[in-house]
Amino acid sequence: MGQKTVLSGMRPTGRLHLGHLSVLENWNKLQEEHYCYFMVADWHALTTSFDEPSVLKENTREMVLDWLMVGLDPEKSVIFVQSQVKEHAELHLLFSMFTPVSWLERCPTYKEQLQQFRELGKDVRTYGFLGYPLLQAADILIYKADLVPVGEDQLPHLEMCREVARRFNYLYSTKLFPEPQAYLAEVALVPGIDGRKMSKSYSNEIPLAISPKELEKKVKMMVTDPARIHPTDPGHPEVCTVFAFHRLFNRDQVDEVAESCRRGEIGCVPCKKKMTDVLTSFLTPYWERRTKLEKDPDFVWDVLKEGSQKARLKAQETMTEVREAMGLY
Ligand code: SF4
Repeated sequence: MGQKTVLSGMRPTGRLHLGHLSVLENWNKLQEEHYCYFMVADWHALTTSFDEPSVLKENTREMVLDWLMVGLDPEKSVIFVQSQVKEHAELHLLFSMFTPVSWLERCPTYKEQLQQFRELGKDVRTYGFLGYPLLQAADILIYKADLVPVGEDQLPHLEMCREVARRFNYLYSTKLFPEPQAYLAEVALVPGIDGRKMSKSYSNEIPLAISPKELEKKVKMMVTDPARIHPTDPGHPEVCTVFAFHRLFNRDQVDEVAESCRRGEIGCVPCKKKMTDVLTSFLTPYWERRTKLEKDPDFVWDVLKEGSQKARLKAQETMTEVREAMGLY
C-alpha cells in the first residue's frame, strides 16, 4: 500500500489509560507510513457533555500530552484541534442539506447511546447529538482521507460517511470525495482493575501517566480468583484480572505465572507485586518523556496551533472545490 491520507481523532476526555494504548500504538505505526491527521474532537465532546469550559481545555492538554508521550510526532503528523478548523462546520452544514434524517436515526449507536445516557440521567436528544456522525463524515472527507482507523462498532458511521461522499459526488457530478476505507487494526482488550472493560466511566482505569504510588495501589485493588483464600490454594488464572495483565504485559513469564498459580506456589500478594514492577518498567520511559514535555507549558498549545494551521490549509483547499461544485459564490 502506498502512502495514504489517514484521519483519526479522540474526544478530549483528559488523561488516557492503558485501554487506549493499542490504539495509540497503531497511530504511531500509521504515522511512519502515511500522511496522518490526528484530531482533538472537541466539538464532538460538546455533543454529550456540558463540563466547565476550563475542564475541556485542561482535558485537551492532558490528552495531547499523552499522545506525545507515547510517540506521536508533530514533525510526522498533523496534530490539531477540530474547533480551530471552522471549515469542518461549513462542510457539516452543507452535507446536512442532502442527508436524510433517517440515515442518522438508523445508526445503531444512536438509540443505544440515547438509552445509555438516559440511564445516567442525561437527555441527549439534541440536534447536535443526532448529527454527530455527519460531523464525523465532514471531519474525514474534508481531508479526503483514504483510511480511517476504526473499531468494529464504528463501521456503520464510516459506511454513512461513504454514502455521503457518494451522494455528494452523484448530486454534483463530480469525483471530489474519495470513499474512505476502514483500517481495522487489532485492539487489545484491557480489563479494568475490577475485571470489566477499562473505562473512566467505571472508575476502574489505570492512567498512562499514573504516579508509581498510585499504580501500586491500583494493582493491589485488582480482583483475583475468589476461590483462593490461602496463598497455597490452587488458583485459576483464567478468572483473575492480574493474570490478564500478565498475559498482556509480561508475555515472557506468563506460562510460569500460570503454573505457579495453579500449583498454589505463588500468593496473590507477590504476584501483584510482580505486576506492579512489570508495569512500572513498561511505563517509566513514558513518564520520563512526559516530565520533559511538561517543562514547557506552551509546548502542547504550540503543537496544536501549528497543526491546526496546516490542517486549515488543506480544509480550505477542499472547501473551495466544494463551493465551486455546489455553485456557491
Ligand atoms: S496468584 Fe496471581 S494469577 Fe493467581 S489468582 Fe493470584 S493474582 Fe491471580
